[in-house]
Amino acid sequence: MRILIVEDEPDLLSSLAQSVREEGFAVDTASDGEEGLYKAESTNYDAMILDIMLPKLDGCQVLEQLRKVKKTPVLMLTARDAIADRIHGLDAGADDYLTKPFDLNELLARLRALIRRAAGQASSTIEITGFKINTAAKTVHSSRGPILLTSREYALLEYLAQHRGQVISRSELYDHLFDENDSSLSNLLDVHVSNLRKKLGATMITTRRGQGYSIDA
Ligand code: CA
Repeated sequence: MRILIVEDEPDLLSSLAQSVREEGFAVDTASDGEEGLYKAESTNYDAMILDIMLPKLDGCQVLEQLRKVKKTPVLMLTARDAIADRIHGLDAGADDYLTKPFDLNELLARLRALIRRAAGQASSTIEITGFKINTAAKTVHSSRGPILLTSREYALLEYLAQHRGQVISRSELYDHLFDENDSSLSNLLDVHVSNLRKKLGATMITTRRGQGYSIDA
């Protein structure tokens, strides 16, 4: 899953980006409204964290422009006493909000909930052919116990599982699993798929030649 964070306070931006990356997300950043809008329009992010008080374009202006073209789930950040901002932001198309200062664990939980709802998933557990994926704890269990995955293997499995029954192209996977700072070699996706098949069984992920990968519904 790939997240865009738009925040103009440099310390908060870098600590947020680090924490969200540690949760296993790919993360892009922007430090003003114009750059944020440009990135949000040009990439299909799984969710966006958007500060409201921003230079160039404020968060509400970003939302109004973005909502003309994209439904990206948006968690907005507002000042504690700025009720008018929250109302304006929700009306402009924000999906949820947090007031500053916020608890990091609450932000991460709200982010996971936004992504789950966007995928039409009510629960944080996904069950597929003998495996249980817990998207809050980022763990996978079979009937025999936990299966240890690297964070990239987990991210790939979760993305395919959230979209099970659909063929997901390689370029879509690259867009959602890797961020703008990633310089991973293009064959790494095949390596991750191959490792997942070793750990979960050869039939879990289907290769559709020339189209991409899928997990059956
Ligand atoms: Ca700000």
